Amino acid sequence: MNIDRDPALAAFRAEVAHFLDTAPTPDIREAGLKTTCVFAPFEATMAWQKLLNQKGWAAPGWPAEYGGPGWTPEQRAVFDEEYCKRDLPPLLPNGLQMVGPMLMDLGTEEQKAKYLPRILSGEDYWTQGYSEPGAGSDLASLSCMAVADGDDYVINGSKIWTTLAHKANRMFMLVRTSTEGRKQQGITFLLLDRMDYPGLEVRPIIGLDGFPEQCEVFFTDVRVPQSGRVGAENDGWTVAKALLKHERGGAALSPGFFRKIALMREAASTTRAPGGGMMADDSVFQRDLGVLEADVTAYAAFENMIRTGHALGRDPAMPSLNKIMSSELGQQVSVLAMRLAGIEGLPLQLAALDVGSGVDPLGSWHDLVAMPAYLNARATTIYAGTNEVQRDLIARSLGQA
Ligand SMILES: Cc1cc2nc3c(=O)[nH]c(=O)nc-3n(C[C@H](O)[C@H](O)[C@H](O)COP(=O)(O)OP(=O)(O)OC[C@H]3O[C@@H](n4cnc5c(N)ncnc54)[C@H](O)[C@@H]3O)c2cc1C
Repeated sequence: MNIDRDPALAAFRAEVAHFLDTAPTPDIREAGLKTTCVFAPFEATMAWQKLLNQKGWAAPGWPAEYGGPGWTPEQRAVFDEEYCKRDLPPLLPNGLQMVGPMLMDLGTEEQKAKYLPRILSGEDYWTQGYSEPGAGSDLASLSCMAVADGDDYVINGSKIWTTLAHKANRMFMLVRTSTEGRKQQGITFLLLDRMDYPGLEVRPIIGLDGFPEQCEVFFTDVRVPQSGRVGAENDGWTVAKALLKHERGGAALSPGFFRKIALMREAASTTRAPGGGMMADDSVFQRDLGVLEADVTAYAAFENMIRTGHALGRDPAMPSLNKIMSSELGQQVSVLAMRLAGIEGLPLQLAALDVGSGVDPLGSWHDLVAMPAYLNARATTIYAGTNEVQRDLIARSLGQA
């Protein structure tokens, strides 16, 4: 139970709770229950963003001048807590948490006016075109080439792991515009207005969990306007670094972890243990759940420190530490969820996982989502900078590498 000592905060919590209880459609609720990764089911989640935007709540982290709600850190924490309790789908991050905030810092006035309102309203969805077959951790080695021609660039090359490129209508990308000097110096940051430019082909990749979430994107003489460039030509590395700062968006993850632990506790009371009795009485499982909950509690304190602008939160090692802790905790949650589901979690139920399919799951909701969530969580220590690379960055910031 949450107790807000401040009456204004208590009234705010009641308003949030009322909206979140009444506004989502059945499809949106279903999408929340069927969310097995960072990217919740696309159509229902974008519809939910539109409803939240009508209320002015689509972008809790955005400043009021760009359409954010202007909440205090405490209000934001209340919103996150109430949101998680209801198992609603998290909004898709690329526009709201990445390209939007980056444009606020570095976009031209025209770019802000053109793109920010449509990101907020959910009319546009942006995919991130950075990685290439030969450029992942070593992103600066990217070779997708853009050559200036009149008012345009002509792009040739390919991108890979481009999440939801098959659903997006816009793309932000890094291209090589020079091969002179240091490899970081010849990179340019571009905004693409369409995903159906002649010569642009998107090929979805089926992931370990059975879904096409990532894609390959091929460019053959794709002509895009130079007005989509952010920053100067050959200075895209600076823009990419600025965007990276926003990549995890400042949204608290600990409420989601607490919620999953609470749901596991609930499910354990009706789940048979392999050795007889219920999982709620399985002392090893209960111990591991308790240890995880203690670790998440420590992580919540860490998140709070960052959110409230504590001096330690401004340490350059913190984003890397946060990435490592959050991804590893998320994986531990998924491992315990699989242990709880046991053999019931093994069937791959793609149709039942599809929002609006009307296909009932075999077994419980927990059994339905545990395995795809477990498989998808393997990727969290790879994307947004692998954890090995994050550990290198921490060591370097401490002067040890
Ligand atoms: C689910 C998922 C979604 C993704 N979404 C997107 C997206 O939307 N857009 C996009 O552009 N990209 C996306 N990516 C790509 C992601 O950014 C890359 O996978 C990541 O940067 C790692 O690059 P790589 O896969 O080429 O691995 P590599 O860089 O080849 O790394 C292989 C291994 O070597 C280790 N390694 C590499 N360099 C070092 C080093 N210097 N020190 C120590 N260890 C090192 C790595 O930690 C890793 O274990 C996504 C990836 C996944 C898995």
